[in-house]
Amino acid sequence: MALLDDNPGPGGQIWRLHSNQWTTRMRASGCEFLPQATVFEVRGSHRLGVWMEGEAHDLTYQKLILATGARELFLPFPGWTLPHVMGAGGLQALAKGGLPIRGKRIVVAGSGPLLFAVAAYLKSQGAIVPLIAEQTTLLDLALFAAGLEANKFHEAGRLLWDLRAIRYRPSTWVTSTTAGLVRLNRGKPVPCDYLACAYGLIPNLELARVLGCAIRKGTTIVDETCQTSVADVHAVGEINGIAGEELALIEGRIAGYAATGQTIKVTRHLPRRARLLEFRRLLSRTFALRHELRKLAAADTIVCRCEDVRFSQVQAAADERDAKLQTRCGMGPCQGRVCGPACEFLFNWPAGTLRPPLAPVPVSAYLNRQP
Ligand SMILES: Cc1cc2nc3c(=O)[nH]c(=O)nc-3n(C[C@H](O)[C@H](O)[C@H](O)COP(=O)(O)OP(=O)(O)OC[C@H]3O[C@@H](n4cnc5c(N)ncnc54)[C@H](O)[C@@H]3O)c2cc1C
Repeated sequence: MALLDDNPGPGGQIWRLHSNQWTTRMRASGCEFLPQATVFEVRGSHRLGVWMEGEAHDLTYQKLILATGARELFLPFPGWTLPHVMGAGGLQALAKGGLPIRGKRIVVAGSGPLLFAVAAYLKSQGAIVPLIAEQTTLLDLALFAAGLEANKFHEAGRLLWDLRAIRYRPSTWVTSTTAGLVRLNRGKPVPCDYLACAYGLIPNLELARVLGCAIRKGTTIVDETCQTSVADVHAVGEINGIAGEELALIEGRIAGYAATGQTIKVTRHLPRRARLLEFRRLLSRTFALRHELRKLAAADTIVCRCEDVRFSQVQAAADERDAKLQTRCGMGPCQGRVCGPACEFLFNWPAGTLRPPLAPVPVSAYLNRQP
């Protein structure tokens, strides 16, 4: 049994290398942890290409559980590529990694509950958060609160109490920014040192897609044991839909038990998973993005920041492939991970094609391959 992660330690987005009961249990179980191991391609049935310790390895498996998580969705607006603008979770990660934020004024904007978590963290580290701008409406937020089960309602209540000194404005979004100032669709411009902005999370589906797993509406399709449409491949957590840590942990247990044939233990977790799936539906309804966000970019706003492609250059393209052929949009180092989902939202393009390598690897990864 082995756990592969392209990070230097286990823990994913939430724990970020900090030990906790799950990492302790994982180590005690005898599971081998392979850090800085990036799955960059699928090399036939039950075989993955993994970049690790400076070289490519073939790794075979009998059962595979995908838990590739999610990333933030960025939408282009004038100024979004300036150095003081970061993703909400991105700025939080940098702060956790040592970026000094004490005394800095940070506007948090975009959509989703992550904005609360980020604002609470930034505040706890001494930052001043003058505003959380949330694009969804007050009515949708009220319906969200009404739909929460008791423990999640109390959790949200506690978070709101911690953040009571911070202005939280629904139906509000960033229209542009220049160094030191954020302009919104309503109200006065807000001075800031940083703008932490992201429009929710999108699943990292690249590996699931190259394995051939069925995908619908941007998430993997799984049955109640988290089995995908591909034999011996399970999927858990954010790639099945954005719902947070609790569902990711439950699904991890379900998939682990299912993959090892422990059916009775699977059954024990199914009712909780079913309730959390309700929460997932509620989240996706509440924080659905409004159409006004499609109009934020100006003609000269950069859409693909790797290749410096501007909005007006791709506006008339039929789809992602057309845009690639004409402008190199999505062909830079991030391989469309940032501009791809943004363009899908802005222009209603279908998800683009995907080719290995799934992550940048040296050419040597393709030389001297084992037969
Ligand atoms: C930037 C960011 C910040 C977040 N902050 C919070 C927060 O503060 N509080 C909160 O409740 N939720 C937060 N979330 C949501 C959180 O990610 C999830 O709720 C939870 O971590 C889901 O667990 P997961 O196992 O699905 O994914 P993750 O915990 O994200 O784990 C996925 C892991 O897979 C690795 N991986 C992906 N692809 C490959 C590959 N090809 N090869 C090898 N490894 C790979 C990733 O590096 C990552 O370590 C955040 C999400 C993001 C994107």
